[in-house]
Amino acid sequence: MHNAAIATLGLDYAYLPFPIAPERLKVAVDGFAAVGLQGFNITIPHKQTIMPLLTTVTEVAQAIGAVNTVWWSDTGWCGTNTDAAGFMAPLQSLKRDWQQLPALVLGNGGAARAVVAACHQLGCPEILVAGRNAQKLAAFAQSWQASPLQPNLSTHTWDQLGSLLPKAGLLVNATPIGMALNVEASPLADNQLPLLDSQAIAYDLIYTPRPTQFLQQAATAGLATFDGLEMLVQQGAAALAIWTQQPPPVDVMRQALLERLP
Ligand code: NAP
Repeated sequence: MHNAAIATLGLDYAYLPFPIAPERLKVAVDGFAAVGLQGFNITIPHKQTIMPLLTTVTEVAQAIGAVNTVWWSDTGWCGTNTDAAGFMAPLQSLKRDWQQLPALVLGNGGAARAVVAACHQLGCPEILVAGRNAQKLAAFAQSWQASPLQPNLSTHTWDQLGSLLPKAGLLVNATPIGMALNVEASPLADNQLPLLDSQAIAYDLIYTPRPTQFLQQAATAGLATFDGLEMLVQQGAAALAIWTQQPPPVDVMRQALLERLP
């Protein structure tokens, strides 16, 4: 999607993959500076370990605890995380009073961190995070205490979903349940859907398949639904805007993805 956008913008850039071993990250980043790269995306397993190698890390990336986008500035490499902006982008077209809508996030992994930051930025008054592992949940809750964002967050084990679902104005699946190879699975049982408010929004970060079983259940229950494709497009568009300082051709990027995703 980046190269499609670059072609549309008529820029003499290329977006290329570089597999880098963890122990070679610093030399790679120094090399990128030496050859004059404009910027790069960074993914697993480098999203955290890149942070001490950067001159500046934005508040949102500090809060999420991971960087996915890096650009060169006069002072050196700067990093941010565009996943929260990508998550929020499709929601911002809805005319909803986010300050009245508590969010319920299923899962407490990397993507859930971006969702929490985004829900906080949207203005959700309360963010409930449900997970299956009490120890990981406690570490997740703890990690936000020193965060620059300070979301109103509470963590809950999966067995509490019955009491959490009626509170959710925005329900987000940030687990891989329902992804390709396990497409019949859903984080919610059919009999849990009626527990949701009829105005609740169901959002699944998964983009293959589209829709997931979860979103099919939610649509059948009459809820507004969002899948993960737009988040993927918009986090990329936000990165491209940083590198090029131009409005990205989002439609071209979306189309390029649609042509290539299974
Ligand atoms: P991750 O860091 O591995 O976290 C996955 C989370 O889901 C963990 O909290 C894990 O629990 C939980 N989980 C996994 N299987 C579960 C199960 N059977 N029951 C209950 N909880 C379960 O992964 P991630 O990077 O956050 O990604 C999560 C999902 O978001 C993936 O489907 C990914 O493709 C999608 N995603 C989409 C975008 C986008 O742009 N649309 C961006 C990022 C991620 P434990 O901690 O207990 O293992």
